[in-house]
Amino acid sequence: MAVQPGDKPFLQFTNVKKTYDHKTLVVKDFNLDVAKGEFITLLGPSGSGKTTCLMMLAGFEDVTSGEILINGRQVTSIAPYQRNIGMVFQQYALFPHMTIRENLAYPLKIRKKSKEEIRAKVNEYLALVELQAFGNRYPAQLSGGQRQRVALARALIFAPDIVLMDEPLGALDKKLREQMQFEIKRLHDQLGFTVIYVTHDQTEALTMSDRIAVFNHGIVQQCAPPHVLYERPANLFVADFIGESNKLKGTIEAVGDERVDVRLDDGGLVSVLKANRTEVGQATTVSIRPEKLTFTDRLGSAGNQIRARFVTSHYVGEYIRYHFETADGTELVVKNMNDSSAPQLDPQEEISLAWLPQDSQALDRHDSPQPA
Ligand code: ADP
Ligand code: MG
Repeated sequence: MAVQPGDKPFLQFTNVKKTYDHKTLVVKDFNLDVAKGEFITLLGPSGSGKTTCLMMLAGFEDVTSGEILINGRQVTSIAPYQRNIGMVFQQYALFPHMTIRENLAYPLKIRKKSKEEIRAKVNEYLALVELQAFGNRYPAQLSGGQRQRVALARALIFAPDIVLMDEPLGALDKKLREQMQFEIKRLHDQLGFTVIYVTHDQTEALTMSDRIAVFNHGIVQQCAPPHVLYERPANLFVADFIGESNKLKGTIEAVGDERVDVRLDDGGLVSVLKANRTEVGQATTVSIRPEKLTFTDRLGSAGNQIRARFVTSHYVGEYIRYHFETADGTELVVKNMNDSSAPQLDPQEEISLAWLPQDSQALDRHDSPQPA
């Protein structure tokens, strides 16, 4: 659950800035309130500042300015080992000379737990990640996926309040990644810890998170639940980074409460949702997801239309990708399910593509940051 108005956030980043060289800010003004138990993902291209934010929270990097609070307390007043944070990284970082049991026991040993408690917890967490049969092996005797499950169990075994995961599945192949995504979600649902997860993989972010903060150049472009990011991207960077978008350039001609009319550069007039371009005369880009474009005029007068010439199609199995070009040379992609609605088109054939106003937005041509 996201933070509700009136709730005291469990974890808070307020105006957090970071520079390593006293010149460039790699995190520019990070603000985020996290509820207890929430699964938050930091998503963005390499070098956008995601890991730096985790490191500041864990206490491995200083905060240049701003505040990080856990349960209302400044983290700077809490030593890193007292922050009760578990961590999982891409490199599992298991101790190679210790068995799996000894690896799992380690965080409890340094917390001075009793022998009996350690034994019970190790058994419990081996079972939780389904590795009961592997307790006496060494990390080198496990597969990559099994090692990552041990790393996960070791990060959770001391019941941390917050678990940080930095590209934890980056080294695994696609199938194993998907299994582990499911595994992490299951443990999160079962144990209720708060997660700050870092990835550059948008599908992973969309499937796992309660909310996603999209980073670019140290600035959060938008922070929202997955469906909001996908259906209502705040700007063109988010529209492009999450999924795929068709982009038609034009100028705002009229402004209503929820919609704007846009005169496209090819001459047509369309009605789309108002987003971050809202004034008559402003240049804008209309963004439409490829699966929201349809071939027929079955949308009737409620729909927008544009003429386009068929270029080529690609068979992807479950769906077909069609490529079109408008009169002014703009490329359009349509994704259609591979069913009876998928048309056979002749080379160069000109047709109308249609979409509903609520499936498109008028966005800024430039990336503009949005408050988190
Ligand atoms: P991400 O995790 O999104 O890939 P990082 O937080 O690792 O991004 O890096 C953000 C920026 O800070 C990058 O330009 C990176 O080169 C720089 N950076 C990261 N760690 C250090 C460091 N320890 N010293 C100097 N610069 C760093
Ligand atoms: Mg990183």
